[in-house]
Amino acid sequence: MEWPEDQETLLETLQLMETAQAFVAVYDRDDRLRYANEAFREAWGVARGEQLLWSELMRRSWQEGRGTLIETDDFEAWLRMTAARRGKVPRRAFETDLHDGRWLWMTETMHSSGWMMSIATDMTSIRSSERALRQDRDRALRASQTDELTGLPNRRYALSVLETMLARGAAGDGSGKGCCVAILDIDHFKHINDSFGHATGDVVLKDFATRLAPCLRKTDIIGRIGGEEFILILPGTTLSDAAHILQRMLESVRQARPVRDYPLLCYTFSAGIASARPGERVDGLFQRADQALYAAKTAGRNRASAAA
Ligand code: GH3
Ligand code: MG
Ligand code: MG
Repeated sequence: MEWPEDQETLLETLQLMETAQAFVAVYDRDDRLRYANEAFREAWGVARGEQLLWSELMRRSWQEGRGTLIETDDFEAWLRMTAARRGKVPRRAFETDLHDGRWLWMTETMHSSGWMMSIATDMTSIRSSERALRQDRDRALRASQTDELTGLPNRRYALSVLETMLARGAAGDGSGKGCCVAILDIDHFKHINDSFGHATGDVVLKDFATRLAPCLRKTDIIGRIGGEEFILILPGTTLSDAAHILQRMLESVRQARPVRDYPLLCYTFSAGIASARPGERVDGLFQRADQALYAAKTAGRNRASAAA
């Protein structure tokens, strides 16, 4: 990358960015807003120097009716669905609406450090008769990739992302560390349904989805691949790092009491972890993780086990 050597160029560039018409925001690898220019701060109601997490920024948009227009009854599911698309590819672009009616074209650029810059431009004045059509198409595409109950990527989408990652090389992120996959399955879930009802089972599934997200990095993906089965895709992760992540999740889930009406209802899960071998495809990797899951189940559940 050509980098301007002189201070004047750097300073002028930053000052222009500050006053630009475009909405500029920079997020660090934890997805914390580290810089927002004047236009962005004004539209999203962010104070100068205020460094909040992207998820907090979205929650605020939703609660206070400013910034991003978020049309949902279930904000947590919306957040999971949107986070599942954030920071997974080097570049992407999409349409976003603001609460005040403005319509933005937003681009996101990821740096290999995990930092991200988003730049949006106001496209309100470009009257487009095809816009509704495009929005319908985008909504339909998102729906076809999303599990309705939890808001997580569904089986097809999660596995297609994994396939792309494996095709790019085992690490999936160029770190040379390898890519790990874990299959998670809630223990004795049938018993929860039978004892407390299907609706309570659904609450447990949503609780599970909510609990796992904080244990993950921006580049990780979690998807729901079956009834009470989930997949974790962890690019740039060694098997021992993955085992640590799973331990944190197991611990978090052990603390969960997801249903207010049944304060004693708790649950656990089991997991099988496998690290992608060079050249390995989805089927083989998936099968090895599944065998490890089976081992965790037979060893007594409520644990993670790693594939050989
Ligand atoms: P194990 O510890 O061996 O995994 O036992 P299990 O009972 O969790 O496994 P099993 O595969 O026998 O049962 C899974 C149950 O999950 C059966 C099915 O009715 C239930 N299930 C599947 N999808 C949903 C859903 O969307 N909501 C609810 N509430 N239950 C579901
Ligand atoms: Mg199962
Ligand atoms: Mg189960």
